[in-house]
Amino acid sequence: MRKKIIAGNWKMNLDYNEGLGVFTEIINMVKDEVTGTQEAVICSPFIHINSLVQLAKGYNKVSVGAQNAHQAESGAYTGEISAKMIKSIGAAYVILGHSERRQYFGETNELLAKKTDTVLKHDLRPIFCIGETLQEREANEHFDVIKSQLVEGVFHLEAAEFSKLVLAYEPVWAIGTGVTATSAQAQEIHEFIRKEIAAKYSQEVADATTILYGGSCNPKNAAELFAQPDIDGGLIGGASLKSRDFVDIVKAYN
Ligand code: PEP
Repeated sequence: MRKKIIAGNWKMNLDYNEGLGVFTEIINMVKDEVTGTQEAVICSPFIHINSLVQLAKGYNKVSVGAQNAHQAESGAYTGEISAKMIKSIGAAYVILGHSERRQYFGETNELLAKKTDTVLKHDLRPIFCIGETLQEREANEHFDVIKSQLVEGVFHLEAAEFSKLVLAYEPVWAIGTGVTATSAQAQEIHEFIRKEIAAKYSQEVADATTILYGGSCNPKNAAELFAQPDIDGGLIGGASLKSRDFVDIVKAYN
């Protein structure tokens, strides 16, 4: 069976102490309240990671990730952080290809393919984001956009490497907007993604791939989304900043 994951993306929110406070609350609630097999991941700003990893020690249901990594091994890239550095402080995951990185930092599928290689080389699991804009959906281009994000971003990988990925379908029009894809809309795309993986690799690889839904997921709509056969958890933005909301979403997958 594929892994169930609920990942929080804090984006550029919470200062150091605020982040430690929210994370401590999350750990305590997960410990007391979550009985299922799902894993909760918090992808924090870089400054928190080391401390969150320490706090999470001994709690196997909670992991820590980063939100980006540079494609190079090391070098003269002022202000950047490498995959090796992220690995060295104990993070397990790295979000790659979030639509905000694509939109505001010009990240292309080609660049993201390189970042994916580097992150995998350092034994970190990418949470690789794909999804169409509203314009693309209205022009009925969403399947083509998603297919090219897969083909150009991650389908160069051998099956064994691809199997380490987590994918996240995040329709750009649903991120931070309060507009959620209906469970039918999300399921339709998740099923399409799984079929593309089966065609490229094998049904076995497709069945083992965790595909998260992201976009205005909250404690009220999470259970219905997670009940869809091809939705294996969520990538949660705004609601991951509030420990109670985030853990309620984690519990919605029990
Ligand atoms: C995200 O940015 O990955 C996201 C899903 O955000 P939100 O939950 O706030 O829509």
